[in-house]
Amino acid sequence: MSNPIKHTDVLIVGGGPSGASAALSLLNYSKCDVTIIEQSDFNKTRVGEHVSASIFNLIDYLKLNKNDFEKDSFIPAYASKSYWGSDNVSTTNSIFTTEEATFQMDREKFDFKLIETAAERGADIYPRTKCLDYKQLEDKSWLVSLGHPIEGKFTIKANYLVDASGRSANVCRKVGASSQKHDALMGVGLFFELDDKSKKFEQTLESVEQGWWYSACLPNNKMVITFFSDADIISENKLNKLEKWKDLLQETNHMKYLIDNTKALSDKLWIRNAHTQISDVRNLENFIAIGDAAVSFDPISSMGIGFSISSACFAAKYIAHKIENGSSTVAIYQEDILKNYKQYQTIKAKYYQEEKRWPNSVFWQRRI
Ligand SMILES: Cc1cc2nc3c(=O)[nH]c(=O)nc-3n(C[C@H](O)[C@H](O)[C@H](O)COP(=O)(O)OP(=O)(O)OC[C@H]3O[C@@H](n4cnc5c(N)ncnc54)[C@H](O)[C@@H]3O)c2cc1C
Repeated sequence: MSNPIKHTDVLIVGGGPSGASAALSLLNYSKCDVTIIEQSDFNKTRVGEHVSASIFNLIDYLKLNKNDFEKDSFIPAYASKSYWGSDNVSTTNSIFTTEEATFQMDREKFDFKLIETAAERGADIYPRTKCLDYKQLEDKSWLVSLGHPIEGKFTIKANYLVDASGRSANVCRKVGASSQKHDALMGVGLFFELDDKSKKFEQTLESVEQGWWYSACLPNNKMVITFFSDADIISENKLNKLEKWKDLLQETNHMKYLIDNTKALSDKLWIRNAHTQISDVRNLENFIAIGDAAVSFDPISSMGIGFSISSACFAAKYIAHKIENGSSTVAIYQEDILKNYKQYQTIKAKYYQEEKRWPNSVFWQRRI
């Protein structure tokens, strides 16, 4: 016997910060019911952790408090050293934020608290579930076929569909919204355990001929070191292999010293897409993209997590308005995104152009 069709007002694909925040906003401020589909079991290593203090206003809007998060979920990032454009150190706070305080988060704890709270407040959450097919019906609602390794195949009918699938913008691509990728940046990194507690709270940035290195001390005496470059450069130089990655790290002038008195927490590097992309959903009804699926920023900007939550909160208002009053204002949301995206691109280009030491490097030439 085939499974009955489940119904929901809003179906959110992706249980990261944007998906969980959209669910929380809808549950807090509207009468809509919400379902979240997440392909993982929520145990995947989460990366990206540097945020400005404005994150606390956003979690306040979600009706959460800093103290609701587990102890040590946020530590202040006091010192930030940058070797960019020259070998002289410049000490700054986050590159694009004007707030004085910035924080390093424990991403696993942060993401988990958001999704756990969404479940407690009534969201239906399906982990380890894959979206197999999307169909839009004549009344503009959506029929989404899903697959779970144990439960098997089932279908959800939703009034509204939300792409919160992250940088891949999986749903946008499947349902015919435009999604433009502007570069092929990737991050290849490793977590370390710190022996030397004096290193805590530091963040370091160092540009090199093939890209740039980033390190940050994280809560719980951990440190992350990531190398960012384009996919083809990483692949040609085998920088996704630990030995080659370590060799390149040893060629840095400053970053290499950070691993003294540390222990690598894995013998395998993690690899993530970090490209800039933007989606445009104006050709579709009852559909919106949020977080990285709407716009994904270069991690140099430290804008991703804040934007993923704020875009989700705004989108939730438009969705609730459409479901409860019938009129769509998604164009306003999309135009706002385009405007902010243009500003981001100008600032990003200016920042990359400060580095002029390697005029023949393919990585830097692509960013002139
Ligand atoms: C290396 C790196 C460093 C970064 N550093 C920072 C930083 O310091 N500060 C900052 O603010 N931002 C940073 N970012 C960006 C930040 O991580 C993202 O902006 C943020 O995670 C976006 O949240 P999201 O919910 O939109 O997407 P994600 O966090 O990517 O979540 C998407 C979720 O959707 C799920 N999913 C995907 N496809 C499907 C599907 N078809 N079906 C079901 N589920 C699906 C995924 O499993 C995932 O759980 C960094 C990113 C990278 C790659």
